Amino acid sequence: MKMKTLGKVALAVAVASLLSSNAFAKEKVYKWKLAMTWPKQLTPLASPPQKLAKIVKEMSNGRLIIQVHGKNKHKAPLGILDMVKLGQYQMGHSGSYYWKGKDINTLFFTSMPFGMTKAEQTSWFYYGGGMELMQKAYKKHKVYSYPGGNTGVQMGGWFKKEIKSVDDLKGLKMRIPGFAGEIMAKLGVSVTNIPAGELYTALERGTIDALEWVGPGMDIKMGFHKIAPYYYTGWHEPASEMQYLVNIKAFKKLPKDLQAILVTAMKYTAYDMYNENFDASANAWVKMKKEYPNIKVKEFPLPVLKEMKKANDELIAKLESKGGLTKEIIESQRNYMKKAREWTKISEYLYLKNMIALEK
Ligand code: CA
Repeated sequence: MKMKTLGKVALAVAVASLLSSNAFAKEKVYKWKLAMTWPKQLTPLASPPQKLAKIVKEMSNGRLIIQVHGKNKHKAPLGILDMVKLGQYQMGHSGSYYWKGKDINTLFFTSMPFGMTKAEQTSWFYYGGGMELMQKAYKKHKVYSYPGGNTGVQMGGWFKKEIKSVDDLKGLKMRIPGFAGEIMAKLGVSVTNIPAGELYTALERGTIDALEWVGPGMDIKMGFHKIAPYYYTGWHEPASEMQYLVNIKAFKKLPKDLQAILVTAMKYTAYDMYNENFDASANAWVKMKKEYPNIKVKEFPLPVLKEMKKANDELIAKLESKGGLTKEIIESQRNYMKKAREWTKISEYLYLKNMIALEK
């Protein structure tokens, strides 16, 4: 290359770099932190925030950076709402029903016993008024709440003994948290809360007789199937939706395009978690059945389910009598489920019923 050409190239490079540095000089980089309830390795629950951070960085060309902290870092797995509210973290990832002791109106946005399926509930969130009610509930906590990934229907849990009647539940020691725990307590179950890391030993030693966790994909790592062979089908968490929390003040400081990127990435990663968990459960269930052929899938007898439903309805009626937003959310969910279930019955349900009949 001649000296003259080289000079031209050098000049072009200099101009280009000057132009680009000018262009980017105005582009502020937003550095956010997200705290989640789970340790980083607890996938698929811990997957959405970690995938979110990656795609938000790429989509924003590095203008929005989100650092994800697992529970081992912040040490406050059940303090996420407070940390986001106070702005210590701009974002959180958790489960709305963890805050029911603080504010009963947050209970309804994860999953309710005898409630909607994943398809019904997601439709309620995005098209049936659920999102509006959720923002209304979280407004006083100064955060936005968004769906953060669904586990789909959760299994009713691992039991050491078969449950043949309501009497078999009396005095049974079980780990089952939240609203479902209140229902079980009404039926005479001795409900205990034991940290995740101690559950296997508690079940093995008989400190508890039964427990619920999630579904095959997450249960297999816990090993409960090795010591409690009765695997009951679900009733209490038909579609547990995790939750993204965003500090409203921080969100409003973002330029419009970054807000759009963030909201889209939250919706995408929530959608993705459902698929990841479904796949994990399908694979784990094949493996479990093969390695532990003594596992028996059981449905609670109808009289037992009826008693559970009765206890549920009494607890809901008590909440509904509070009126206000609580009543508004309960009514909205009830009305939406009633309408959506009619469609589920003649679509997914009858399709599956007929396909299963053909297998036989
Ligand atoms: Ca559960």
